[in-house]
Amino acid sequence: MNLSQIRAALEEARVRPVKTLGQNFLHDRNLSRWIVTQAEVGPDDFVLEIGPGLGALTEEILSRGARVIAIEKDARLIDFLRRKFRDSRFEVRHGDALKFDTRVLFAERNVKLLGNLPYYIASQLLIRFVDYPSAISLALLMLQDEMARRITANPTSADYGALTLRMQLHHRIEYLRKIPNTVFFPQPEVASAVVRITPRLPAEVDVFDPAIFRRIVRLGFSQRRKQLRKLLSDCVGDWETAAEKIAVSPSARAEELSLSQWIALTNFITPSSEKAVAAPVEERFPVVDEHDRKIGDAGRSEVHENNLRHRAIHVLIFNEKGEVLLQKRSPWKDRHPSLWDSSVAGHVSADEEYDATAQRELVEELGVEMELNRVAKIPASERTGEEFIWLYSGRSEGPFRFPRCEIDAVQFFPIEVVDKWNAQKPEEFAPGFRECWAIWRKTFLAKTQKYSRPPEPTNGALPDPAGADSKPAI
Ligand code: SAM
Repeated sequence: MNLSQIRAALEEARVRPVKTLGQNFLHDRNLSRWIVTQAEVGPDDFVLEIGPGLGALTEEILSRGARVIAIEKDARLIDFLRRKFRDSRFEVRHGDALKFDTRVLFAERNVKLLGNLPYYIASQLLIRFVDYPSAISLALLMLQDEMARRITANPTSADYGALTLRMQLHHRIEYLRKIPNTVFFPQPEVASAVVRITPRLPAEVDVFDPAIFRRIVRLGFSQRRKQLRKLLSDCVGDWETAAEKIAVSPSARAEELSLSQWIALTNFITPSSEKAVAAPVEERFPVVDEHDRKIGDAGRSEVHENNLRHRAIHVLIFNEKGEVLLQKRSPWKDRHPSLWDSSVAGHVSADEEYDATAQRELVEELGVEMELNRVAKIPASERTGEEFIWLYSGRSEGPFRFPRCEIDAVQFFPIEVVDKWNAQKPEEFAPGFRECWAIWRKTFLAKTQKYSRPPEPTNGALPDPAGADSKPAI
């Protein structure tokens, strides 16, 4: 859109730009085109656009054939946008982007985030959308130049700080170019810049405890001119050894540590009991026949390499909204690395029964105990990796504490999101989970249909599938 088109559109929509909504509309068509080109938007993409305004970026995105969901807070622009883009690939939602539930994006393929952001909430939007785990494969954003410099800063520069580290932790961020004020109507008082944000590969980031990382980064940057030795004296007992270990001067200040040094420092102070290295322990598993009768036992690798029938448990944990907790397996796992899985899953070991395994795994994997219901027993097959699986369900709101070498992240998801995600991108789930989810959905629907009422995911009432609702003997 050029300047006269912007003026005409504002008149048609009867809109006077509002400063409190950060309304500075782009009127340089070449720039809109350039932004969308930098995001390599194509027909297979699903684009979430924050603050479409009068549609300067939207029209370029739609011209590349992508699907667009645009979130606009200004009610006055909604009808205008709907009239302007009568396209089945376009949907505009009236609302606050800060309240958008990003979890629904997991059910979509090739998700990209674009926007000429309202600067008054840019840092909050960044924290919400550039999160981990995230379904967004690329973000191309126009920001206030000062913010763009902060999130792309290098150590020792004045712009480098806690926000830089938070944003760069799981993402690579590139400063693409500075944008003059003259391309906007009305012109903002500050300069702008465009950044491109892409997720790091999972194995690029060492295992670390995010809570400890956030705490030391916050403390470290609380007084920039002070040395870390003093600022972190409560967290790091032996600073000289820590400094040597992470290769910084004992008199270092926060701005001198790179991201990998902050992670190394986090790991230096994490209690060793919580590090539990991922080295696969050669546990012994019971080997069973086609009726799940024990016929011997064998080591973990022997069982997997020879496809011997063995036993496992899966637990699906629900919160009070009826959302299910999924875990993202660590990239260091030997089986199904980085895939999404049941809340808890584990093998029954040689001297154990199913129920006891379920309780042990709850504690080991998530640091919680709870009452469990048996949902169903799934027979061993190729699809389950020759595992007989007892599936349990339980209820908890957390908090969950998990070993990072085993679990990369955990998150509650609405049931309908998991259904759609599983249908669209089955390859993102561990095969055992897919079997369990199919059974749980069947029993859940069977139960709710029996009482001829719709599922009630919001009150967390879980099905006690007929014949399988006995409490396990724990
Ligand atoms: N994309 C358009 C462009 O480039 O011309 C408009 C960009 S303008 C800088 C920011 C847009 O974000 C405005 O349309 C404003 O109404 C909208 N906006 C402001 N706060 C918002 C919020 N919390 N959620 C969604 N949109 C918001």
